[in-house]
Parts: sequence; C-alpha cells; structure tokens
Amino acid sequence: ATEAEQDDLVVIGGGVAGYVAAIKAGQDGMKVTCIEKRGTLGGTCLNVGCIPSKALLNNSHLYHTILHDTKARGIEVGDVKLNLGTMMKAKETAVSGLTKGIEFLFKKNNVKYVKGTASFANEREVKVNLADGGEQTVSGKNFIIATGSEATPFPGLEIDEKRIITSTGAIALEKVPESMVVIGGGIIGLEMASVWSRLGSKVTIVEFLGQIGGPGMDAEIAKASQKILKKQGMEFKVNTKVMGGDVSGDKVKLQLESAKGGKEETVRHNHSGESQCNKCTDENMQIDAEVVLVAIGRRPYTAGLGLENIGLETDDKGRLVIDQEYRTKIPHIRVIGDCTFGPMLAHKAEEEAVAAIEYIQKGHGHVNYGAIPSVMYTHPEVAWVGQNEQEVKASGVKYKIGSFPFSANSRAKTNQDSDGLVKMIADAETDRILGVHIVGPGAGEMIAEATLAIEYGASSEDIGRTSHAHPTLSEAFKEAAMATYGKAIHY
Ligand code: FAD
Ligand code: NAD
Repeated sequence: ATEAEQDDLVVIGGGVAGYVAAIKAGQDGMKVTCIEKRGTLGGTCLNVGCIPSKALLNNSHLYHTILHDTKARGIEVGDVKLNLGTMMKAKETAVSGLTKGIEFLFKKNNVKYVKGTASFANEREVKVNLADGGEQTVSGKNFIIATGSEATPFPGLEIDEKRIITSTGAIALEKVPESMVVIGGGIIGLEMASVWSRLGSKVTIVEFLGQIGGPGMDAEIAKASQKILKKQGMEFKVNTKVMGGDVSGDKVKLQLESAKGGKEETVRHNHSGESQCNKCTDENMQIDAEVVLVAIGRRPYTAGLGLENIGLETDDKGRLVIDQEYRTKIPHIRVIGDCTFGPMLAHKAEEEAVAAIEYIQKGHGHVNYGAIPSVMYTHPEVAWVGQNEQEVKASGVKYKIGSFPFSANSRAKTNQDSDGLVKMIADAETDRILGVHIVGPGAGEMIAEATLAIEYGASSEDIGRTSHAHPTLSEAFKEAAMATYGKAIHY
C-alpha cells in the first residue's frame, strides 16, 4: 500500500486495551482501524470477564442477602426462589448493552472496525481472515498489539467448560452444581466461588500458597478476608496442591497433596506394605466435586498473530517484550494490556492505551504503575493500592501502620455490614502513604480516594485532616489515616 493508503494506526484486538487505544486515536484525528476476531468488542473484560462476573456477583449477593439476612432488618419475605436462567439473561443484557456501546463509540470517533483474525504478513501489513469469510489486508504506519490473555490450563485436566471449567464456563453454568472445587484461591477463584456458594453450591477452594487472594494482597487483609468468606460457607484448603484428577466417574475426583512437602509428607505418603494407604484414605488428600473450576492464573495470548513473520518473540511467560514506550524491537509496533508486562487488569490496560497513543502522537506519555488499584469483588470487597506490608518490609523502608475496623464505623454498623478493616501504611520518616489495604463494604469505591492520595503523594496526615462526610464508610479511611500519624477518635 502507498503511504496515503495506510492507516495511521492499526489496533489488533478489541478488548479494553485495544478499543480504548482506537477511540483515543480516533479522537485525536488519526486514521485508525481496530481488528477483533470475537464478533463483539470489549474483549475478555466485557464479554467473559469483569462485566458478566460482576452481574452475577451483584445478583447472587442480593439473593443470598434476601435468603439469610432479612429477619434482623425487619423484612419478612415469603418463598424465595432462584431463577438461574433469568439471572443469566440479566448478565447477558448487561454484556450486550456495553459491547454495543463500544461499537457506537467507534462510529462516533471514526474508528474502522474489522471483524476477523489478524496475522502479520510483514512489518507494515496484517492479513485479516474475515469473520464473514474472505480476506482483507490492512496496512498501517503504526500498530498496537492488544491480543489479551487466556486461562492457564491445569496439566492433566482437560477443560470442557461443563465439568472442568475456566471462568468462562463459571459465568455460564446452566444449573447450580451441588459441589464445586476451585483450584486457585486468587481473584477469579474467590469471585466465582462467592457466586456459586451464594447460589447454593458447596464450594471448596484449594490454594497452593499459605494465603488466598493471589499476588499483591496484603497478608493480614487476606487472612481477614478468608475468615469472612469461611463464615459465609466456603471451605479452604491452603498450602495444598492438586496432583491430578479423574473424570471417569459421576464426580470429578482430585488428588491433593500438602504443598509444604518435606519429610512429614514423604513419611505420611509412604506405601510401606500396609493393607491401607494413609494417603488414599485420608479424606483431606482426595476431594470429589460435580464441577472443578481451574483458576490458577492467566497467560498472554498471541497465537496466530504471525509473530514469526516479523521476528518478534515472547519471553518465558509468553509476554511480548517492550520498552518504556510500549515499543517492540520494531519501533512502530507497540504492545499493551494483558499480552505484555504488568498486572492483568482492565484499568491498567486502559491507562496504557491512552499513554501509547500519546507516545505515538506527542512522543511522551505516562502510567504510574505504583498507583494502580486492585479490587476483589467478593462481599465484603477487598481493595488495595500501593505496596503491601510484606513488600514495604522487604524494601527496608521504616514504616508505620494505622488501621481502623468497620465495626467502629457508624455507617457500617448502621447498615449491619461491619466486617473488615482499613489498613494504611506510611513512611515512618516522611509520613507519605505507601499503601492502603481494605477489606470491607464498599472497599472498591473507597480505594479510588486512596489511589488519588498516592498519585498526589499525600501523607497520612493530609487524609486525616480532610473532612469526610458523616455517616459514611469513607470515615473509616480517614480514621485509619489518623491512626497512622496519631490516634483514631472512634477506636
Ligand atoms: P482482552 O480483553 O483479552 O482482549 C483481547 C482481544 O483481542 C480479545 O477480544 C481477542 O478476541 C482479540 N484477539 C486476540 N488475537 C487476535 C487476533 N489475532 N486478531 C484479532 N483479534 C484478536 N479486570 C479488572 O480490572 N477488573 C475486573 O473486575 C476483572 N474481572 C475479570 C473477571 C474474569 C472472569 C476475567 C477472566 C478477567 C477479569 N479481569 C478484570 C481482567 C480483564 O478482563 C483483563 O485485564 C482485560 O480484559 C485485559 O484487556 P486486553 O484488551 O489486554 O485483553
Ligand atoms: P491469580 O494469579 O490472581 O491467582 C491464581 C492463584 O492460584 C494464586 O493464588 C496461586 O497461588 C494459585 N495457584 C497457582 N497454581 C496452583 C495450583 N496448581 N494449585 C492450587 N493453586 C494454584 O489468577 P486468577 O485468579 O486466575 O486471575 C487471573 C488474572 O485475572 C489476574 O491477573 C487477575 O488480576 C485478573 N482478574 C482480576 C479481577 C478483578 O480485578 N476483580 C477479577 C478476575 C480476574
């Protein structure tokens, strides 16, 4: 193609990273095409991730609350019934409304949308296998690869999305399984465990590490969250490995082993000629379930992109390698979102998308990776930003901590929803906030304030001296700040 025929930008992938980059480029007057193979825009997040999971989390929470938490509130309800089909339809309505919304935004911002699978033919051209049949070549001056991620499979357990499922199956089950084992107590595991446990499934979470919550969660908060989730009926097996599974029977049978290993384990599992093996009879070492959810992480997805045709390689974790400006070794090809470095979060992808366009347009852009919040949408929510206590300790910086329990917050108490706490970590010398960790009602909204505080380099005293409306949950955040440089009033 001649230069005049080339797009200013070709975006591969219409997930959060890709669609935001395309819209931003369109807004800036660039000639832009976005290629997406799924048939709908919004990627994992809108189609099978953030949005459908939150629809189910919200409605399953309502159902659970109506079943178990109305009497003491003076609400008497009659027959409460679950209509899973309608709950799933509500989820689908949320998804289709939002994905169509992105199509509308594409039109509004002059983004050309090509439905199909893109593969690099050379450094300036991609061939698109069109969803409707046929092929199209799209050429560009700049490219952004935003092909996202996929669930990491568990070796030996073949995913069928019916009995052995990933999160994609877990948001689309046709009936409530009588029992479910979740392999991996990270965010996906705990969100999905919450949904199905609330709807009536007996859920057991098997986590390899000694703590739940996945990477980044503060250990004290993870412990508090686990205690609350346990009270809600979820079972936990931490420090436990799944060794393999048998799907031949009515139920899936999983073999477990202590992840701590060591001598004790070896002795315990030694078949020393006894008629009965301890390992095989110990109920802790074997578990049955109707459905098994594999939630052990996600891995970058770059299959079929034709990387070999342009000499781009991925690292040992499958991530496309980039520099500070999101450039691969071919400078006009950039990569953002889940298929490269950093946390696999939609809002991180979104920040990178805007920054990448700014780099292309103006030569500078910025994402503060120290101020990307994380939220786990269980009830209560867990949210954090900045460093956790383990990380601060390891960094050698002297620090102080202020915490405030929601049981001492007037609004949480009034709402009869007061499990959890706010924990603030600040530099002992400068008082600058290093991290904020919350488990409690509304944590996911409250973390925005903490993120802003960190972004602006606030001290704990800045927060403690800022008026917060009464009675609100956010007063717990203010009081945790007060407890960091002095004393909380209400605790
Ligand atoms: P993706 O959203 O994966 O989009 C990539 C797109 O590229 C896909 O649509 C794919 O079809 C397309 N594609 C791939 N290859 C090609 C090709 N060759 N040609 C054309 N198109 C191609 N994050 C949060 O921040 N908050 C949450 O609450 C949250 N909940 C989640 C819940 C679940 C169950 C899951 C699985 C994830 C969740 N995430 C959440 C993570 C979030 O979904 C991802 O971080 C986000 O989607 C990453 O966006 P992306 O654009 O990089 O990739
Ligand atoms: P994760 O990395 O958060 O957690 C995986 C967990 O599985 C870890 O705790 C890990 O120790 C454990 N694990 C790994 N191998 C195991 C094994 N063999 N046996 C038992 N446990 C094992 O991954 P995830 O929960 O699958 O989520 C994937 C990505 O999606 C994450 O990056 C997450 O941030 C993102 N996501 C975000 C949200 C949100 O923001 N609310 C929701 C869902 C997913």
